Amino acid sequence: MAVSELELSEILEELERRYPEDQEHIRRAFEFISEKHRDQLRKSGEPYIVHPVSVAKILADLNMDSTTVIAGLLHDVLEDTEATYEEIQELFGQEVADIVEGVTKIGKIKFKNLKEAQAENFRKLILATAKDIRVVIVKLADRLHNMRTLGHLRRDKRIRIAEETLSVYAPLAHRLGIWEIKRCLEDLAFKHLYPREYEKVRRFVSQSLEDLETYLKKFVIPKVREEIKKAGIEAEITYRPKHLYSVWQKTIRKNIKLEEVHDLLGVRIIVNTVQECYMVLGIVHSLFTPVPGKFKDYISLPKPNLYQSLHTTVIAPKGRMVEFQIRTWDMHERAEKGIAAHWAYKEGKERAQGEEIFSWLRNLVENIQGSRNPSEVLDNLKRELFSEEVFVFTPKGDLVVLPAGATPIDFAYHIHTEVGNHCAGAKVNGRIVPLSYRLQSGDQVEIITSPSKRPSPDWLSLVVTSKARNRIKHYLRQIERERFLSEGKRIFDKIRESAGLSPEELMEKLKKKISFKNEEELYVALGSGKLTFAKVLDLISPKKKRKTGDRITSSGKGVASVEGLGGIMYEIGSCCNPVPGDEIYGVITRGKGIVLHEKGCKNLAYMMENFPEKVLKAKLKPEGKFKTRIRVKVRDRIGILADITRSIAERGSNIRESVSKTLGDGSAVMDFTIDVSDRKHLVEVIKAIKAVDGVESCGRLYS
Ligand code: MN
Repeated sequence: MAVSELELSEILEELERRYPEDQEHIRRAFEFISEKHRDQLRKSGEPYIVHPVSVAKILADLNMDSTTVIAGLLHDVLEDTEATYEEIQELFGQEVADIVEGVTKIGKIKFKNLKEAQAENFRKLILATAKDIRVVIVKLADRLHNMRTLGHLRRDKRIRIAEETLSVYAPLAHRLGIWEIKRCLEDLAFKHLYPREYEKVRRFVSQSLEDLETYLKKFVIPKVREEIKKAGIEAEITYRPKHLYSVWQKTIRKNIKLEEVHDLLGVRIIVNTVQECYMVLGIVHSLFTPVPGKFKDYISLPKPNLYQSLHTTVIAPKGRMVEFQIRTWDMHERAEKGIAAHWAYKEGKERAQGEEIFSWLRNLVENIQGSRNPSEVLDNLKRELFSEEVFVFTPKGDLVVLPAGATPIDFAYHIHTEVGNHCAGAKVNGRIVPLSYRLQSGDQVEIITSPSKRPSPDWLSLVVTSKARNRIKHYLRQIERERFLSEGKRIFDKIRESAGLSPEELMEKLKKKISFKNEEELYVALGSGKLTFAKVLDLISPKKKRKTGDRITSSGKGVASVEGLGGIMYEIGSCCNPVPGDEIYGVITRGKGIVLHEKGCKNLAYMMENFPEKVLKAKLKPEGKFKTRIRVKVRDRIGILADITRSIAERGSNIRESVSKTLGDGSAVMDFTIDVSDRKHLVEVIKAIKAVDGVESCGRLYS
């Protein structure tokens, strides 16, 4: 299809006529591309500018605004000439420059592996890349013209482009409701991909159409026209053949022969109002018998892409089935042009504003989701059109879809667990980036692995995919278990030594007292602090425990020596839990006798201030175990609780109770109630806790 210079200038004049206010810009754009593409030829041998001018014409036929048409003229200059973004911006404005840049970006996407799921991702990628939906519309027009001139390319290239068109671009046109373009793209792709089937369908349709047309003109249309006129309705009645690809698809979908496709030619009636649509439907149903189950009311229940019409199939004279589509002009405009209708250039009218487009999208999504929650719908819409996903590529060009915010670590785990576990660094578009880098759509990502590299806990704060998170946690748990295991073995040996037993003897003794699956489980319990050193000693030599005699517990009572009074019955203050060796005072109370407090206790301070006569110096005998409380502040990390309990146990102290609370800022507070023999013992325990990695402070807890 060669286009002569004359035709080119005719198209140009037509464009100028259609956009009188922008004649100047259109002419300038034409001169600009004539200059930039000057020495380039298309594969067909035509001057290159035939292509952009044809693309602009397609856009004008969609009634797109002048910005889009000018962008259509310029759409290839960034990719194929030395023109720059700044140059376009200066000459034609920001909007045009952005659309051209967007089209160029999409042009650089390499479509690989067009299986259904992946094709859907490519469609999303295009929508995500194009911040302005007009970018997609220009791209569709570009693709349409390329498909029309595909015949000049090599066969393998032709097949690749046709496949891409069928799986990516035609569905995109469908989603945006641009039927005109969708139909053309599908038929052209059909022709190149399945030439024999295409030819068969084409021949069948053209033969049957002639016959069908004669039939409609004779038996159907005149009757309908007459009745509509009688009802005083203004209507346009046309008929249009189904496009070839959809005829073919129908035979496949329903597993029928071509001869069995009855709706090759539908009658379309376009009227002015919705009310008239239903009136015309009534007329059609009164003239012919409707086929049960074939009536569809897409006016009250629009299709997901907002398509509206009434569809019905009737049995016309001679028993032939005829399909009718009844709609208003508004519905017709939207059915043919979809989202493009909203940038329609209307003479004397402003073009659609943001709000109008926004409401179109809102309707679209409400129809898709059928949801009652509009804000959720809008969220979904955003995700759908301006994706919350990022689309990145492997070095081989395979597409990987990750949630927005994903880092190279997410990417690495997506590729393979081993790649994730040994991820040492990453290159994005050939440059080294930190592992905290947030991937952007279009990035090409390469992971650098090292056999010695291992996941670290801080990776958990860098990933957003659950796969990466789970794999990292799994790895860390495994490592922790290994640590507990070796730690547990060490503790086991210590116990064995202090009890003077052989490993087998100790194991035997323990098996009688507690149940555990295997030795490994026992070691892990010891290593993690679930089973303490003290508890084990207790288990294997219970006598030792009895010897401690007067154990003093929570509401500890016993005999304390109080200055000036000798031995006396006392209670331990549960507010400060003094232990032998502390500086201790007894407070004389009514009913409870003497209550002992530690020097730092607030209650004691109050008594000293107000009732000094009731406070006496006292001393606790270091006999048995004493309960006391400590508070530990830590930077939270995996395994820290276990490390602390173990260090307590290793100092021969027993934990009665522990409560931990995580604070928002990554730190945590852990309160322990422990048993110690005396102050010296308590100091040792505190010192041991302070030595644990991540512990920020540790001290006595008062309440
Ligand atoms: Mn192009």
